[in-house]
Amino acid sequence: MDDLVPRLEGLLFPSVSGVAVLSIEVDIEWVTVRAKSSAAGHSCPGCGGWSTRVHSSYLRFPVDGPVGGRRVRLSLQVRGFLCGNSSCGRRTFVEQIAGLTRRHGRWTERLREVLASVGLAMAGRAGARLAGVFGVSVSRSTVLRMVEELPDPEPPAPRVVGVDEYAMPKGRV
Ligand SMILES: [Zn+2]
Repeated sequence: MDDLVPRLEGLLFPSVSGVAVLSIEVDIEWVTVRAKSSAAGHSCPGCGGWSTRVHSSYLRFPVDGPVGGRRVRLSLQVRGFLCGNSSCGRRTFVEQIAGLTRRHGRWTERLREVLASVGLAMAGRAGARLAGVFGVSVSRSTVLRMVEELPDPEPPAPRVVGVDEYAMPKGRV
């Protein structure tokens, strides 16, 4: 297991930097990935100042997509930091791992993306039902909210109109 763990980070979180996998536990229903942030500190979301002053630590359990027929959840050690900037209105903040967690998020960011895509394709009740197929319990209104939170699609690039498209059919002015 010891030489497997470093490789597991690349396997489990290929697009996330700053996460360290501590261990993996498997029971009949859940795969639990114990992990923590590997960053020494974080930028305060209030003022952008860097802080390494940890004042608290606790566990979060964001759910991830299933593996091998089992549901997956993280058991993520999360630290609260003090902002050292006296002019910042925000005295403390909780660390987030970019691409993995968000404030108050019940799911990993990639599971959220999957659920939002499901919602986009099958809005509301059908989306909630399909999410249940991959082991995620989510309400119809949550599915709809996730769709609303998706960024607006980029406006299509202006199309270059060819001369032929302007050409009038013969015989018309
Ligand atoms: Zn601050």
